[in-house]
Amino acid sequence: PDMLSSAHHAKSHFLQDSDSERVRVTVRARPFMKVEEGHENEIPVVFVNPVKSTVTVRRKGSFVDYTEFKFDAVLGDSATQADVYQVAAQPIVLDVLEGYNGTIMAYGQTGAGKTYTLSDVVINETNGSRVEGIIPRSAANIFEYAANDKSHEYHISMSYIQIYMETIQDLLNPETSNLQIREGEDGGIFIAGVHEIEVRSLEDVVTLLMLGDCNRQCAFTKLNAHSSRSHAIVIITVEKKTVHSLDTRNCADRRRTSKGILVGKLFLVDLAGSERLKKSGSEGLRATEAMSVNMSLTALGKCISARADPTVTHVPFRDSKLTRLLQESLGGNTKTSLIINIAPCCDYIQETLSSLKFGIRAMKVGSRAILNFEEEFRVLNRNLQEDSQSKDKQGSD
Ligand code: ADP
Ligand code: MG
Repeated sequence: PDMLSSAHHAKSHFLQDSDSERVRVTVRARPFMKVEEGHENEIPVVFVNPVKSTVTVRRKGSFVDYTEFKFDAVLGDSATQADVYQVAAQPIVLDVLEGYNGTIMAYGQTGAGKTYTLSDVVINETNGSRVEGIIPRSAANIFEYAANDKSHEYHISMSYIQIYMETIQDLLNPETSNLQIREGEDGGIFIAGVHEIEVRSLEDVVTLLMLGDCNRQCAFTKLNAHSSRSHAIVIITVEKKTVHSLDTRNCADRRRTSKGILVGKLFLVDLAGSERLKKSGSEGLRATEAMSVNMSLTALGKCISARADPTVTHVPFRDSKLTRLLQESLGGNTKTSLIINIAPCCDYIQETLSSLKFGIRAMKVGSRAILNFEEEFRVLNRNLQEDSQSKDKQGSD
């Protein structure tokens, strides 16, 4: 970046405001991979500056024509999984534990590091420790917090779904297909009939993640669903209830007790690859898949843009299953962290630029998270039985 600092004609995108309620955007650039090694000595076109939180993209062959993008945080190839968790996930997880909704989503082309960032689970055989992505770290954080909080009783559950060609598939229950999105009386969005399984430890979460991934690779791949062409979403629901005690000094806690249960939902979203498939190159199913992914990511972009512009009143959430499900993440009742994953190779410069621009638009989206209260613990899998009986009666999307 230093050699660029004296150059002119910089087009800069700076933070619009310091509004703490807008979508937080973190860029993560992964290291060069083995197969890309030949490219390592190329003159780089993408510079990340973690100190200034900027990514600079230089036009190939030019030192003076470049664009600088500024984000909430920028992580280079030396950033660890723990660094990413701390910057892009922990604040959201702590909010979920306080009864807010939270969303952490990874956006980027296939191979940029979305799944590594979110789902990676590595067990170190020498000392048994785990090196992990955001999902297992979030779970560990939640269980540790709950274990240390003696004044609340916790119920924690998990769902794992994918959206493939505009159908919602339950990765924890491959027998069901085409689940429907419904809107509750309180305006909250939920998936009718989805398996919601109680989890009591990090091991439970890791087991369900592996089961879901296995279903994603096996059961659904028979239907030709390649994982890069679908959005994978883990939903962790944290419900907490004050344990009654004689200690009523804390007024805030007393107020909560009178209202019952605090519910926080954490959405962890591994988006389908954002690359544009060449129109001529793919046909048949591949082309239909690509169109479906493009459609839903375009809808995501449109919703983000619409929310970023205060003069736009209609936000087209209903344009896709993804945006309908994430409705509350896009400026609604949710705190959102967006991770833009980029690959360092020159070959991907167009995709990298388009991902960075997506991130810049997202930074302008405000949100208005509110605490969620319920009267009682919800009976897990309540929807499952009800749904099979009332499928025909209720309207759906
Ligand atoms: P995506 O889910 O975006 O398609 P992956 O997460 O599968 O991409 O990453 C592609 C490859 O790069 C995988 O082999 C993954 O292990 C590796 N990778 C991604 N990010 C990193 C990183 N920060 N450090 C080391 N390896 C990484
Ligand atoms: Mg992936």
